[in-house]
Amino acid sequence: MKVLVLNCGSSSIKYQLINAEDESVLAKGLVERIGIEGSVLTHRPNCDEKVRIEAPIPDHGVGIKLVLNALVDPKHGVIESMNEITAVGHRVAQGGSLFPKSVKIDEKAKEGIKSLFGIAPLHNPPAYLGIEAVEKALPGVPMVAVFDTSFHQTMPPKAYMYSLPYELYEKYSIRRYGFHGTSHKYVAGRAATYLGKPIEDLKIITCHLGNGASITAIDGGKSVDTSMGFTPLAGISMGTRCGDIDPAIVAFLIEHEGLNIKDMDNLLNKKSGLLGISGISNDFRDVEEAADNGNERAKLALEMFVYHVKKFIGSYVSIMNGLDVLVFTAGLGENSPEARLEICKDMDWLGIKIDPEKNKVRGKEADVSHQDSKVKVMVIPTNEELVIARETLEILSK
Ligand code: ADP
Repeated sequence: MKVLVLNCGSSSIKYQLINAEDESVLAKGLVERIGIEGSVLTHRPNCDEKVRIEAPIPDHGVGIKLVLNALVDPKHGVIESMNEITAVGHRVAQGGSLFPKSVKIDEKAKEGIKSLFGIAPLHNPPAYLGIEAVEKALPGVPMVAVFDTSFHQTMPPKAYMYSLPYELYEKYSIRRYGFHGTSHKYVAGRAATYLGKPIEDLKIITCHLGNGASITAIDGGKSVDTSMGFTPLAGISMGTRCGDIDPAIVAFLIEHEGLNIKDMDNLLNKKSGLLGISGISNDFRDVEEAADNGNERAKLALEMFVYHVKKFIGSYVSIMNGLDVLVFTAGLGENSPEARLEICKDMDWLGIKIDPEKNKVRGKEADVSHQDSKVKVMVIPTNEELVIARETLEILSK
């Protein structure tokens, strides 16, 4: 059984073809610049060699066809026929309160995903386009939608409500949803397995630190709070997103900089965070290098990031009344011993102590806690595609 996992963005499609028998990745790749000049598919059969296919890709339909053709191509394909694709799993960012779990895609599910366009205008429409494109290209192949928000549906109202007039929640469903749910769920589960303890007995904080970053408090296997909010803009400072700011700044900037809504959105989502503060890059590696070379703004950007993560960890320890495991995952969390060390510095009062030697690990599952640490500190590489493939088959088997 082979599952095609798709993550459709506004101008991109990320894909992986996963062999369910041994959970190996048969091929993966990326379609970029859909609807923009210079569109290209980078296809990686067996995940090593890269094949670049340049072609006009005006829409997601053409993009999906190109991906399918690459998968069956006699030279760089990995399957003989499209009939070998058992199912397709789609990553959908926003499931609102409608989808507390992954769902088989039928007309009702499609209507549900569409009804959430209003609260996820950037993320749900491209996922929907991907669903429709696959329906046309692979008629009859079952599909499942896996939502970034589902795992966080267990948050209690006191955690997900905003202190705004209640009518706005009723009218627009404005509340905290949280994102990266598949990642937080997966790494928390792996941590429990690694430690050989039932997840129901553990208080876990998972730090998904990539270009987008979020932190989740998981009590007994359930998400009880998370740093992202109504959209993925909230929480800690990120690659280009501002994270939490005083909301009055928005009105101030609209007035004093004459910004319209689109400009404002762009400023908060694309020009802030690491990039906005450092003025150098949204990539941690570039900013770390600049900081090492004495760039003060780069240093400040990194200090702010670490400070935000620490604040969330502290607040989540207090709401859970304790902590057993602290997990680091995603690009920076998995690969930067320096960032983990800084975040865990001066946290011994909370029982968090990292072992600098064990912490020298990159991209591998590891317990990096100091022997005196009350809290287990772990590095767990995330694997959102694998979770989507597993959920897809699980939902379809029911
Ligand atoms: P996303 O999926 O949100 O685009 P990733 O999880 O791939 O992001 O994380 C990307 C981030 O991880 C980048 O900012 C990158 O600099 C950082 N990163 C990756 N490898 C390293 C490393 N070795 N050291 C520091 N940062 C790293």
